[in-house]
Amino acid sequence: MSVAAFGPLGLDDRLLKAVSRLGWSKTTPIQAKSIPLALAGKDVLVKAKTGSGKTAAYAIPIVQAILEAKKHSAKRATRALVLVPTKELCKQATKNLKELTMACSKLVRVVEVSSQSGTETLRVILADCPDIVVGTPSRVLAHLQAKTMSIKDSLSMLVIDEADLVFSFGYKDDLEALTSFLPKICQTFLISATLSEDVELLKKLVLHNPVSVSLDEEELKKEQAQLAQYHIRCQPDDKFLLLCALLKLKLLRGKTILFVNSVDRCYRLKLFMEQFGIPACLLNPELPQNSRCHVVDQFNRGVYDYIIASDEMSAPSDKSRKTKRKKSSDKEYGIARGIDFLGVENVLNFDLPTTASAYVHRVGRTARGMEYGSALSFVCSGEEEEILKKAEEKLSGGKDPVRPYEFDMAEIEGFRYRVNDALKIVTRAAVREARLKEIRTELLNSEKLKAHFQDNPRDLQVLRHDKNLHPTRVQQHLKNVPTYLVPAALKSSFGRDGPPSKKFYRKGQGHSSKAQKRKMDPLKSFKFTRDEPKAKKTKA
Ligand code: AMP
Repeated sequence: MSVAAFGPLGLDDRLLKAVSRLGWSKTTPIQAKSIPLALAGKDVLVKAKTGSGKTAAYAIPIVQAILEAKKHSAKRATRALVLVPTKELCKQATKNLKELTMACSKLVRVVEVSSQSGTETLRVILADCPDIVVGTPSRVLAHLQAKTMSIKDSLSMLVIDEADLVFSFGYKDDLEALTSFLPKICQTFLISATLSEDVELLKKLVLHNPVSVSLDEEELKKEQAQLAQYHIRCQPDDKFLLLCALLKLKLLRGKTILFVNSVDRCYRLKLFMEQFGIPACLLNPELPQNSRCHVVDQFNRGVYDYIIASDEMSAPSDKSRKTKRKKSSDKEYGIARGIDFLGVENVLNFDLPTTASAYVHRVGRTARGMEYGSALSFVCSGEEEEILKKAEEKLSGGKDPVRPYEFDMAEIEGFRYRVNDALKIVTRAAVREARLKEIRTELLNSEKLKAHFQDNPRDLQVLRHDKNLHPTRVQQHLKNVPTYLVPAALKSSFGRDGPPSKKFYRKGQGHSSKAQKRKMDPLKSFKFTRDEPKAKKTKA
């Protein structure tokens, strides 16, 4: 079954109202397949990547079942438990569930159990038996053991989301212990992007005669069509040059996540972009979770367009003390999977990740739900080439390769002096200083926050995360692009005022349809022609 309307699924009006307020006119393919099975009471193993609408695929049947149950019994009871491997994902799943219960929020209560803070308040809330509890296995287990939460007689639905991460994040023992608190009969959903050995183990532990759901080849193709993937082969030193040209020539526009492979590199990129007057924020795993969520929240609200992230996200903090994660490569998934970035138009792999799975999860941050997006990867020969090949295998059995973004390096050679100038300033010491400075600032901010900002809301602007970090000078002249640096093929479109501003598109004063928007996206429409004096063919 492909996408379908929500109406014929026989959902409660309050759910349909929420879906309609969210602006969802049709199910995603994975929802079309799994919702009817879940509504029929089956255990379901769903193979779906993040961005496919997988959360609603289990959240809709859960809310429907609770609304149904409440027609027959007004008894307060925790009927659904959603287990996720990270605190960030907890927030995300809770948010999605709350959105879907917006028309019945008094009747169906959703509670998040993911941190130790506020335990007393949480005890009181849990004692009132919220209908849906979302948490990491360890936090939920702690409450079950402390008897602050009870599910034995009431639970009818269990979800394990991002199941392939649950064991590798060290939750195996917790999950095994948790099963003794579950009732004998309980409908269970396992959601996983990949079907690993761990998922097989989990399947045996919690599922009974499950139905497996995944997308068929045709549906996968459609899903892939939403995401245009390109790569540029380059030398390691040319990555900064390429980035500078793409940004300054406005070939990469719109909300973009730039992925690199280490925290140091995050700062290097941020400082480098600052040199060219391009503000970006970054996600630093060393900062507290609240700060990271704040950064993502601001990015999601469109406060800034560029966010720099590495895969070095911390493991769930409540577990890391007890158990080391099983595979070092799992750290790859942290940032790429746990956090919901909204409205991301491009993913740029400045560095390719070290595993093909991480590539798949990174590019899954764009083209989410029914949206379109682009992913561009800078690929050096050797290890990065290998990873890209493996990722192509993983995505489509190698049938639909990540296309080359034919970019003529000679056309942007003029930027090299400026790039070298900028890199001279972005030294290791500058990176170290910027890293320390941000930690210091965060500490100060959080101390101040408690009392000060309530009385001085305007000062909240201090919390913007895209302020310049650079401890040394910024070279003002690098901010502008003199005409002689603009490749001949782009001169007419770059023009006197540059391309139309994003505001122009957003207000819909010209290019409102998706097709028109795609046409205007330089990543998809930029072409050098052979006729141009210096340019080679460039296609996207
Ligand atoms: P998920 O795979 O659950 O992380 O969802 C990815 C994104 O798709 C979320 O931002 C959802 O709000 C959105 N989404 C989920 N279902 C639909 C739908 N049927 N139509 C449009 N967007 C959706």
